[in-house]
Amino acid sequence: MKIIKNEPATLAEKSCRISRYLRHPQTVNEKRINSTIKKPFKFYPKELIGELAVFIFGSFQCNKFLQGTCVPCFYSGFPHSKKQKKDIYNALLKQTKYILNNFNKLVIKHQKKNCYEYNLYRRFKNKGLNILLLTGEGSFFADHEIPQAYRNKILNSVWKHALKNKLNLQVQCEAKAEDILNAEKKGEFKEYKKLAKDLNLTLEIGLESANDFSRNTIYAKDLQLKDFEKAINITKKHSLITDAFVFCGFHSMTEKEILDDVKKTIDYLREKNIGIRLMFPNIQRHTINHLLYHYKKYNLIDIRTARELIRYLIFNNNKNNYNYIKGQDWILGGLVSNPTPLLTIFNNPNALSCKKCCRMFEQAIYKLVKTYDPETFERYLKQMKKCKCEKKYQAFLSQAPKKPLQERVKNNLEFADKLKKDYLALKSLKTS
Ligand code: SF4
Ligand SMILES: [Zn+2]
Repeated sequence: MKIIKNEPATLAEKSCRISRYLRHPQTVNEKRINSTIKKPFKFYPKELIGELAVFIFGSFQCNKFLQGTCVPCFYSGFPHSKKQKKDIYNALLKQTKYILNNFNKLVIKHQKKNCYEYNLYRRFKNKGLNILLLTGEGSFFADHEIPQAYRNKILNSVWKHALKNKLNLQVQCEAKAEDILNAEKKGEFKEYKKLAKDLNLTLEIGLESANDFSRNTIYAKDLQLKDFEKAINITKKHSLITDAFVFCGFHSMTEKEILDDVKKTIDYLREKNIGIRLMFPNIQRHTINHLLYHYKKYNLIDIRTARELIRYLIFNNNKNNYNYIKGQDWILGGLVSNPTPLLTIFNNPNALSCKKCCRMFEQAIYKLVKTYDPETFERYLKQMKKCKCEKKYQAFLSQAPKKPLQERVKNNLEFADKLKKDYLALKSLKTS
């Protein structure tokens, strides 16, 4: 990680050090399995298509995770194989075979037959559409997780499968900005020219926030905005559909600050014509956010903050923007994940909003992701307006913080640093 000797960078460095410590028992002491991984890990977030099929190829951990970046992340809590590197990489092809041999069960059965709300290329006219997301633990384009030659084979076998079975597909791939820069240097995207169109190849890039302090100090992303911009210029040059992940659960920030931060990031991405994948925070074990949550120094955003952000997404939508869901440039994420989170904004016992409102909001969100209909969403929310907790939330939102943000971050990191040993000794963590 590049270290610039100023306080935000020093805080980011400290944050990475603490995260490495908290992740340590799950990485270094991890019990590795004897065999290779023959099936990818998977989960199914609800989306307009029905259920999106997310496949996570098992090989090696995300480098960033090992460096301690990305504060809320516990993606690498997957099992890993003891086998040699070459066997582990060859198993990536077995994992691909497993997906393709079971495509009907793993993908098609989870999705609507026809989904004409998608503005995507269909080689087979008047035929259905299916969507899958492929990633390594960190990125489909990280060479140490999925080397270029394997990536090429995976994409080509999916392409051949689609042509042979007359399937219209959208293949989304998670990618880090730095991996896109590397792939471009090697001329990799040129190799995908033909298949990219048939597969509606879509890149999902982590940005989290357009603000340097939120992104690189609080989230500890280790990503310069100029590199993100270079990456999106590359994906545009190759006509690849591109979305960016936006996070709305930074620790140390007030909900008002989070609202401002996320809205600015949404504006930034809209200006750049990039799709928005708004990620709701959840609590994963072995993270600074969980530690701070446990000792009551951090809370997940309230559902009413999420409501405000969604309204901003759906009502300020620039209809002319480049997007693949007709008239929309957003997707909601983080509602389910693998590993399953400890807590979400819907079942957070420390939420300001009452349980009934949380349940109502959860239903509203799931209706929205399945219909993209803002009116239905608003209808579900009407009752929430009448509840006592609405006033409580508005009063809470107007409270000004007593200290500047940088100081709050510093204090929270100092606290996490002091308590990290006690935190790892917690019984609840050991039995997890
Ligand atoms: S790049 Fe992705 S998987 Fe890796 S640490 Fe960051 S959020 Fe986690
Ligand atoms: Zn309520």
